[in-house]
Amino acid sequence: MHLDEGQIKAYLDHQLAAPEKEQVRAHLASCTQCQALAGSLAAQADRIDSRLAAITPSPAAVPRADAARARLQSRIAEKEKNTMFRRIFAPRYRSAWVAVGFVLILAVALAFPPSRRLLTVSLGCSSAAVHRGAGQSG
Ligand SMILES: [Zn+2]
Repeated sequence: MHLDEGQIKAYLDHQLAAPEKEQVRAHLASCTQCQALAGSLAAQADRIDSRLAAITPSPAAVPRADAARARLQSRIAEKEKNTMFRRIFAPRYRSAWVAVGFVLILAVALAFPPSRRLLTVSLGCSSAAVHRGAGQSG
């Protein structure tokens, strides 16, 4: 009785337990037909190994775990920063930001005498009141 391919492959891959391994070794030593099959299977395994080696990326090409983690953390940090920005400028605070913007525009306008005069005239208030108001806001 000859060896089957599975037995020979398992033998070549060192996957057999000691007693079966010894039986296969003994049979291969005496049977030229099984030796030929074992030789062709070994050659096939070598070809497969070399092709796998050709398509397996080199260690340098595989991204390192710590580099990948650092990249992920920086991406998370950026996302958190982005959400913080969104939280600050959330729609519910929009009216507050509009008010802040209006106050800033008013403050800048009051800082320049020509526009202060124009504002005083258009708002119909006295120059003293504007001065007092500007003094309070900063
Ligand atoms: Zn045989």
